[in-house]
Amino acid sequence: MNLIKTRGLVLKSISYGEYDKILTVLTQESGKISVMVKGGKSINHGKSSQTLLFSYGDYILYDKGGMYILSSAEVIESFYDLTKDLDKLNLASEILQFINFTCDESEDLGDLLRVTLNTLYALVHYNKSLAMVKAVFYTKTCECLGLSPIVGMCMECGCTDSGRFSPSFGGTICTECALECPDAIPIMPQTAQVMEYILNCDIKKMFSFKAEEEDFANVYMLIKEFIKIHLDYEI
Ligand SMILES: [Zn+2]
Repeated sequence: MNLIKTRGLVLKSISYGEYDKILTVLTQESGKISVMVKGGKSINHGKSSQTLLFSYGDYILYDKGGMYILSSAEVIESFYDLTKDLDKLNLASEILQFINFTCDESEDLGDLLRVTLNTLYALVHYNKSLAMVKAVFYTKTCECLGLSPIVGMCMECGCTDSGRFSPSFGGTICTECALECPDAIPIMPQTAQVMEYILNCDIKKMFSFKAEEEDFANVYMLIKEFIKIHLDYEI
């Protein structure tokens, strides 16, 4: 029996039959994979998927008829503290659902994994606000998917007036071009700056800056509309 070792984050856990579970794991080496946990529903089972959802760790698997079966797991980070705060838990669940969805749209799953891990760390260990976590996570994920909004100039005519944002056009536009664009809404310069920082920064630095809560809320509101149109996904 060939054992395979892979490192990854458990995005999803569903029941299979009476006793088993199937996990969806985003891995560094093999992309997104499904892994069966035999007896995963049993409470006393050492590998209970109850303890594995949100877990980042090393998974030892074997292949049985084209299906990965979990042999053992060594958890590096369980993000256990998520269970102590319902708002954080809900947001983390939303984030994993979205990442699970976007994995099918992306070729570079390594970056998506890094963005997701940094986001969960920021939420659990650095106590960043929910508004910041939402704005940064969703914006940075768009960048990783090659879907960056264009911010900082008019994306239609290239002029320096970037006072409006159009989710459907995919970025900032000037007052004149906005006349042709039904969903253009005003964007404050500091909101545009926050969005620009997130899109351009290294993934390692995505939470290493400060801004007003209001700007995070505005970035989130715009990126949410952008995602609805360009990824056909409702956050
Ligand atoms: Zn223009």
